[in-house]
Amino acid sequence: MNIVKVELITYTKDGIRLVAESARVSGVPPGMSDSEIVRMIVENDYQSAIEHISFTFDISEMSIAASREFLEHRISSHTGRSTRYNEEEGFGYYIPREIEGNPEALREFRRAMEAANEAYRRLKDLGVKREGRRYVLPMAMHCRYLWTVNARSLINFLGLRLCVRASPEMRELARKVHGIVNNIYPEIFSGIDCRGRIMGVCPENTVREGFPCPYKKGKLRVPTKEEVKKGKDI
Ligand SMILES: Cc1cc2nc3c(=O)[nH]c(=O)nc-3n(C[C@H](O)[C@H](O)[C@H](O)COP(=O)(O)OP(=O)(O)OC[C@H]3O[C@@H](n4cnc5c(N)ncnc54)[C@H](O)[C@@H]3O)c2cc1C
Repeated sequence: MNIVKVELITYTKDGIRLVAESARVSGVPPGMSDSEIVRMIVENDYQSAIEHISFTFDISEMSIAASREFLEHRISSHTGRSTRYNEEEGFGYYIPREIEGNPEALREFRRAMEAANEAYRRLKDLGVKREGRRYVLPMAMHCRYLWTVNARSLINFLGLRLCVRASPEMRELARKVHGIVNNIYPEIFSGIDCRGRIMGVCPENTVREGFPCPYKKGKLRVPTKEEVKKGKDI
């Protein structure tokens, strides 16, 4: 499976104590433990205190298509692999699941990747520099980013990208990142899911066909914003 890889490079150690201390500077009820303070902050959305915790990830094997969505998360720092300074001949690429499961479509897709690679190589033979050759590289090509993000911005990222409306590749990235940070700081991340689930109200009024939302019916049902505004019984 050629899907986005995520490795944690470094993060703020002893973050729960740090956040609790910063909250105490502001003022919290006496007698609360560090963990209780942090859980209370996250639950009540007093989120500036958790900005003191940050994570740095190495994200690789992500498509250029997904990287455009990823880069929209401006409250974080991104350093990307350059196609001006690196040779990309023989590049790896992402295959969408829909194409992977259809042999004829997969053949067509692979042909397109090989054609792009071949054009990239031939342009080199013709003396064109990387800076010019890179324009034939496809959106599916893998890229790599070092990404530093604080816990508050990360919750915003996860809320948006764990949603079934996010693209499958971004959801996979969000799932992997969430798995890592939840292991380190469950006090902050164990209740984190799509933004509808976090806030108890879903701003998305419609679901994407083929991507059923687990929170649209049943015991876990989350009302839509529209329903709440209309005061509808749910
Ligand atoms: C399902 C889905 C579909 C999408 N579709 C599209 C699309 O069709 N086209 C498209 O362009 N994007 C689309 N996006 C991207 C989306 O609009 C956001 O740009 C992206 O998710 C980053 O979110 P953000 O701005 O909250 O994050 P960040 O950039 O990290 O910002 C975090 C928060 O900081 C504040 N902030 C940041 N910058 C500013 C600013 N300049 N002014 C005021 N407040 C600011 C906001 O409160 C923001 O929520 C889509 C996202 C999702 C999840």
